[in-house]
Amino acid sequence: MSDNRQRPLQISVIGAGCAGLSLAARAADLPGHQISLIAPKQDDADDHIWGFWAMPWVQTATLAARKQWTKWRIISHDQDVLHRADQHPYCAIHRHHWLQDCRDKAKASGVRFHPELVMQAADDQILDSRPPQVPDDMMLQHFVGWEVTVAAGTFDPTTAILMDFRCDQTQGMHFIYCLPFSDHQALIESTLFSPERAPANFYDRAINTYLHTICGLSAFNVSRRESGVIPLGVLGQHDPGLVGIGANGGAIRPSSGYAFSFIQKQIDHAVAQAVAGKPLAVGVPHSAFELWMDRIFLAVLRRQPDLAPAIFTAMAAALTGDEFAHFLSGEAGTKIWLKVILAMPKIPFLWGLLHPEAKAAA
Ligand SMILES: Cc1cc2nc3c(=O)[nH]c(=O)nc-3n(C[C@H](O)[C@H](O)[C@H](O)COP(=O)(O)OP(=O)(O)OC[C@H]3O[C@@H](n4cnc5c(N)ncnc54)[C@H](O)[C@@H]3O)c2cc1C
Repeated sequence: MSDNRQRPLQISVIGAGCAGLSLAARAADLPGHQISLIAPKQDDADDHIWGFWAMPWVQTATLAARKQWTKWRIISHDQDVLHRADQHPYCAIHRHHWLQDCRDKAKASGVRFHPELVMQAADDQILDSRPPQVPDDMMLQHFVGWEVTVAAGTFDPTTAILMDFRCDQTQGMHFIYCLPFSDHQALIESTLFSPERAPANFYDRAINTYLHTICGLSAFNVSRRESGVIPLGVLGQHDPGLVGIGANGGAIRPSSGYAFSFIQKQIDHAVAQAVAGKPLAVGVPHSAFELWMDRIFLAVLRRQPDLAPAIFTAMAAALTGDEFAHFLSGEAGTKIWLKVILAMPKIPFLWGLLHPEAKAAA
């Protein structure tokens, strides 16, 4: 055997965020590979919550989650859909908690951390997790969240509210996301899908109004804030010459902005390939069909954001909780897809089918 075959495969990963550290944490599953994390830039992102549904490839994160909910609601002015999922609860994990767990596992497995952005001559594979390039005028998911402490008995801690459309719809598709960690603590987020961010005070006002009018509160304490912008659509790679991983490897689901579970799925698949003696192949964790349907969906939402409350409540009403979890986790089979397609308003979606790249109507 040549020297080249005896030495471990050198894998360098640029960036120590969710994807970089999640892969590094799997080093113990990759004997024969030496992983190096290149992190010249301090990851100073504030803590935030990642939501995802319990699935086999996110088992470790499910166990480390701050809370799980087997029930969730999708609410509009005239619909209130309650889901119960026996097998796939919705989970919330803190970014800092997950990254620290990954860092500890990576260090214990001999992953090397390099503060310099220097490629090693011996690198067999370089994976790039630096942020992807976002084309102009792209549909975005933008949000502000407050973690609030309120009077005991205010929230129902058994049920997450994934979307509550009873809020200002003047700036595009807008909903409130409410994760009740207890009866007196919750993350409340004002989330918009639109090509442009709203004025800074829009989100704060929306959360305030929700707490006062929907939750009936007159006093609350804000203990933590988070905010973000997630691009929805096909993104340009940070460096087209390198293989991307994480958001830079196409992991963000265009129609929902969910990425955490898809990053773990992408990594799980790559690790399984390597364990089977194949190359550590990192691919886009969505099928061509899903990406096509997402393009149509986004074209419809962009043209007619006012349809969003009816679309999401109809989709939820057509599915059981576990089917909904499968759908949002990229695991829908033909039966689930048929239920979703049949629940959609036909004319707008036919228009979207014919104009998948259409921009918002003037
Ligand atoms: C506030 C917020 C909330 C979110 N909530 C959810 C959620 O609930 N559920 C969900 O599924 N998804 C959620 N997402 C989306 C997604 O899960 C995250 O964006 C995820 O962090 C993407 O992982 P990543 O590794 O691709 O990118 P990141 O975690 O952003 O990592 C990229 C890394 O690259 C580093 N880097 C940047 N530039 C350079 C450089 N020049 N050289 C070297 N390194 C560099 C950064 O420091 C960072 O460490 C959320 C995103 C945000 C911002």
